Amino acid sequence: MNDEKKKSISRRGFLKGAAASAGGLAMAGGMVGVSQAAVPPKKWDRKTDVIVVGAGGAGLMAAVRASDAGAKVVVLQKTPTVYTTSTAVSGGLFAAAGTRAQKEKGIDDSSEKFYQDFLKNGGYMNIPELAHLLTDNSVKVFEWLVDNGLPSFRFEAYPGHSVLRGHRSNKNNGRDLLDTVFAQVKKRNIPVEFGTEVTRLFVDPKGRVMGVEAVKAGKKMNIQAHRAVVVASGGFVRDAATFDSWVPAYSGVGNLTGDPGNVGQGIKMIAKDAGGLPTHLQYSGTYPYGLEVSPRSGPVCRYWYFTPLGSILVNKKGKRYVNETITPTKLSLYLSEQPEKVHYLIASKGVWDEVFAKYPPGGVISPSSPEWIEKELQAGDWLFRANTISELAKKMGIDASGLEKTVETFNSYVQAGNDLEFGRDAKSLTRKIEGGPFYTVKMTFATVLTMGGIRVNDKCQVVDPYGKSIPGLYAAGETTGGVHGNMYMGGCALAWAFTSGWFAGSNAAKG
Ligand SMILES: Cc1cc2nc3c(=O)[nH]c(=O)nc-3n(C[C@H](O)[C@H](O)[C@H](O)COP(=O)(O)OP(=O)(O)OC[C@H]3O[C@@H](n4cnc5c(N)ncnc54)[C@H](O)[C@@H]3O)c2cc1C
Repeated sequence: MNDEKKKSISRRGFLKGAAASAGGLAMAGGMVGVSQAAVPPKKWDRKTDVIVVGAGGAGLMAAVRASDAGAKVVVLQKTPTVYTTSTAVSGGLFAAAGTRAQKEKGIDDSSEKFYQDFLKNGGYMNIPELAHLLTDNSVKVFEWLVDNGLPSFRFEAYPGHSVLRGHRSNKNNGRDLLDTVFAQVKKRNIPVEFGTEVTRLFVDPKGRVMGVEAVKAGKKMNIQAHRAVVVASGGFVRDAATFDSWVPAYSGVGNLTGDPGNVGQGIKMIAKDAGGLPTHLQYSGTYPYGLEVSPRSGPVCRYWYFTPLGSILVNKKGKRYVNETITPTKLSLYLSEQPEKVHYLIASKGVWDEVFAKYPPGGVISPSSPEWIEKELQAGDWLFRANTISELAKKMGIDASGLEKTVETFNSYVQAGNDLEFGRDAKSLTRKIEGGPFYTVKMTFATVLTMGGIRVNDKCQVVDPYGKSIPGLYAAGETTGGVHGNMYMGGCALAWAFTSGWFAGSNAAKG
């Protein structure tokens, strides 16, 4: 076989593989990725410079930056409000290295330290140029938010970060972040059109993205973007069928939490209409902290507020199975191997009360209220309370002597300052589980973000399977894939949404 023929066969093989991995990248008209359906209309209903799809942190940040760079911008948002976005309902933890607030507290941090932590946590599967974009720049974006009125926040330690760099909103959610950037959108009179769903990208014969088809109140319209389209329409966490098919590790189990509009539309549209390359689809930010009070939905319990103070996690057999203080998203992998994929937090009254006193209402179990917690403790489906460990086990429906033995053994490790089974750090072995009543929270998985999406370069331009940027098309936030590698690290998704939005917007204004 001559070299040319070999090359042509291997190229065909690659294309076939790429098409399969993308769930069917379109390849029509001799051009990689442009589907027939994406051919631009003869007549445009409206025109602007930059179209932003999605009004979460990524989209609104992109809109501000594109506007500041001189572009006429419109934001199209599927749902009727910005307050259901994953950004708004998030925990409000934002990772940034080298902030003024860190310096004031004497925290010695740098973008290089952040980068090293981020890659280590992500199993070195992070796309390096995107990891750099995030770890070098989230500080600039965070300071911009602070300078534009971001209300108070506190520092919160989070496994994986070697120093305190998680800036957590004092409201324990992402509304302040969202409100801060939304106020800047309003200040610039950038229109945000609610109830407007983008259904298609239009691509010209040379492969340039020209605009979008959008549907509002059942009416279709074609909007041309003279400079670029930024797709910031979130991930696919709320489409159970897509999630179960793309994320095999957590297929069919646990809560799926986030904006109801985040059903993977942007990712599929970019792959199908413009030939963008999907990547890292099988990775998700899945925590072992969901209370599945209704099918695949319910609040979450930040059990890691309890464990370092002297609490444990046990499985259905009443046995510990892991070092409870490891990164929560890593712990999910261990939970996958446990019976029924559920586990229980065991806490004494002292620890329970201390945690609830320390954090704002709704911050420990979110969302919740003291009344809801009391009602659930009475109901005994996901929350349990009892005066003794054996009574607690009976309420939980697990083996009482097994749980008593587990607690006794853990208490002996605390006494010795040495966790002989799972090697918990001595700093988290300070308090025995004693002094009732005792509390339990039953938990399974809760996925709060998907980490796979469309591959972008360090300008946030969408790239095709050959690494070539697609003219006129940018993506940001959870629509993109690969920045987090194979494991989520707290605060890095909000930081990525705002940082990638920042760059996507600035660059989109250039065309
Ligand atoms: C409960 C929870 C807690 C979290 N906590 C944290 C945390 O503390 N720290 C952290 O770093 N990350 C956290 N995350 C993850 C983080 O919030 C998200 O990854 C990030 O906010 C995503 O921002 P985004 O702008 O990409 O998407 P979003 O904020 O979800 O915005 C995307 C918007 O696009 C809209 N849209 C979708 N399709 C279309 C379409 N076709 N046309 C028009 N609009 C469309 C959607 O309706 C949605 O409103 C959390 C997530 C959740 C759900």
